[in-house]
Amino acid sequence: MAELRLEHIYKIYDKNVQAVTDFNLHIHDKEFIVFVGPSGCGKTTTLRMIAGLEDISKGELFIDDVLMNDVESKDRSIAMVFQSYALYPHMTVYDNMAFSLKLRKVDKKEIDRRVKEAAKILGLEDYLKRKPKALSGGQRQRVALGRAIVREAKVFLMDEPLSNLDAKLRVQMRAEIQKLHQRIQTTTIYVTHDQTEAMTMATRLVVMKDGLIQQIGTPKEVYNTPHNMFVAGFIGSPSMNLFHCRLTETEILLDGQSFPIPPKYLPLLQRKNYLGKEIVMGIRPEDLQITDIISPYAFKATVDVAELLGAETFLYSSLVTQPFIARVQADSNFQPTEVVTLVMKEEKIHFFDPETEER
Ligand code: ADP
Ligand code: MG
Repeated sequence: MAELRLEHIYKIYDKNVQAVTDFNLHIHDKEFIVFVGPSGCGKTTTLRMIAGLEDISKGELFIDDVLMNDVESKDRSIAMVFQSYALYPHMTVYDNMAFSLKLRKVDKKEIDRRVKEAAKILGLEDYLKRKPKALSGGQRQRVALGRAIVREAKVFLMDEPLSNLDAKLRVQMRAEIQKLHQRIQTTTIYVTHDQTEAMTMATRLVVMKDGLIQQIGTPKEVYNTPHNMFVAGFIGSPSMNLFHCRLTETEILLDGQSFPIPPKYLPLLQRKNYLGKEIVMGIRPEDLQITDIISPYAFKATVDVAELLGAETFLYSSLVTQPFIARVQADSNFQPTEVVTLVMKEEKIHFFDPETEER
């Protein structure tokens, strides 16, 4: 059981590399929080500050209301799982899991109980006598998780733990880690650069860029209401289409085409003073669909490329000069140069200020 509070945390490496800037987050007990963002955005640094492997330059870290800044890593009741697994090659699976407990002089019987329980949870009971080299990638990753479980720590920290696995195994282990969390409910912070992993696993995600939090929210909140163009582009695959347009009092003008501003957005656009201005309009690929119904939100487009993916098709095209992707049903055979009529779901349009890039 643990809740964490990160208050105005900064990491300044030597020579003024500011890796993390004013990081504020309250993590509730039992949450599965995911830090997500492109490489170099400060995810690992933040995790290592929580683990006590890196000093906090400024700000305060609390675990269960106890200030942790000056508490040594080994006394923070934290267990960490790394991308590299970091298993000892000469030790059996059993000994790999038991090792940290032996170091802590835990009673032998208690070690045996915890290792066997972790092995049971992870389906490793038949592999306890093997050495890591006689295991598959997924099994090795499970041993790495086992080493965290036996510690019975208050908090799990996981830094890209699946990135050494092939795509299929990654999906499988993703589900296993979620099941594990449902079962033992340890507060977990999971780091990944993979937005799909973040979306599928998180109770809440923290989207980061250049050491700054861009948005905190449930996967659904972040997907449906991205705070800015970076989040809109980063979360979702293929990413949200962004069109440069101009708003009149009533219309969206896009390179000579016009669409009525959906009435539900008018109060917001008025409040933001966006009417009459250059603006960026966002629409997700799945919110563009083939239609044969006449609608003010329909437009014609020429297919450049059609990618058939079995259950769906990605159509690459342009609206006048601006490229976009539509994610449509796969039941039709699209040909390059074919002209299709698409319609936008008007209730799924997003508007961003091109200068601040904010919603
Ligand atoms: P991420 O895990 O999101 O890829 P990191 O936390 O590893 O990002 O790195 C954040 C930034 O801090 C990067 O610009 C990186 O180059 C820098 N950085 C990381 N570790 C160090 C270090 N030990 N010394 C100096 N700069 C570092
Ligand atoms: Mg990293």
